Amino acid sequence: MRTLPPSARRRLAEAFVFSSVAPQLKRAADRGQTVKYLFKLADAKTIETVVMHYEATPRSRARTTICVSSQVGCPIGCSFCATGQSGFDRNLSEAEIVDQFLAASRDLGETQRSLTNVVFMGMGEPLNNYAAVVGAIRRWARPDTLNFSPRRVTVSTIGLVPFIERLSAEGLPVNLAISLHAPDDALRSSMIPVNRKYPIAAIVGAARAHAERTGRRTSYEYVLLQGINDSPEQAQRLATVVGRHLSHINLIPMNPIDGSSMAPPSKSRAQAFQSILQTAGISTTIRATRGLDIDAACGQLRARQLQAATSPT
Ligand code: SF4
Repeated sequence: MRTLPPSARRRLAEAFVFSSVAPQLKRAADRGQTVKYLFKLADAKTIETVVMHYEATPRSRARTTICVSSQVGCPIGCSFCATGQSGFDRNLSEAEIVDQFLAASRDLGETQRSLTNVVFMGMGEPLNNYAAVVGAIRRWARPDTLNFSPRRVTVSTIGLVPFIERLSAEGLPVNLAISLHAPDDALRSSMIPVNRKYPIAAIVGAARAHAERTGRRTSYEYVLLQGINDSPEQAQRLATVVGRHLSHINLIPMNPIDGSSMAPPSKSRAQAFQSILQTAGISTTIRATRGLDIDAACGQLRARQLQAATSPT
């Protein structure tokens, strides 16, 4: 508002908050195709947001996806996840979720690109912060704000069944991504403690119902961990558990995290896993891991910042 005198601008800046997130750090990787932000919140907590550019292919248009956080830390505590290992602070407000989108959009500035998709796959379990997440999706969608269609939003969940059912009843055509990661309950419960409460069959049942109700395809995310969940027998079991419905399986070779003994499988082992699923008639892709050199795996950049801030000099 450069038409206002400086004194008025100063007073406005003192009296109002124009964004609830302040960029603290920005790192690019993959020749600028992946950009990771560390945002500082009003209470000095930090969260991560990632923007990923994808070029057009013969089968798809160019797109720019933002991966937003929904919580500071995460209470779910998955054994393979840096965020899960760093504990839980608090839920984000609706404004803090909305503002990640706005801050990243502003930063895209002159680049001729704009955000085309949102995925809730950053820090936190989105359905554990249900009201703020649904509020943000509705706010982005309003014609007097961004008019951003919920069809371009994907909510990723570890499988909180009652909230999946509640989401399906909202009348919002959002896409659902289920973080499955194991084909049987014994293994899944050892990796994701909340599986004891919501076992695989209940999760897949709720996801199927969501797909039928909204017409949106469910994606199942499966982090491949060498020697843990990547055998041919486990691929066969996964095919049986998910079955053929409006769905797609994304295989994600694990992003190595500091201090963890877990590792991704070899390329050929990952391909063999994929081929078993495809033979069973299940649409499957192996997702390229993005931004390994900027700690793009969920929670790693923040973990490193916290480590640097708390280590003795
Ligand atoms: S994988 Fe998702 S749900 Fe699990 S600890 Fe990490 S952020 Fe939380």
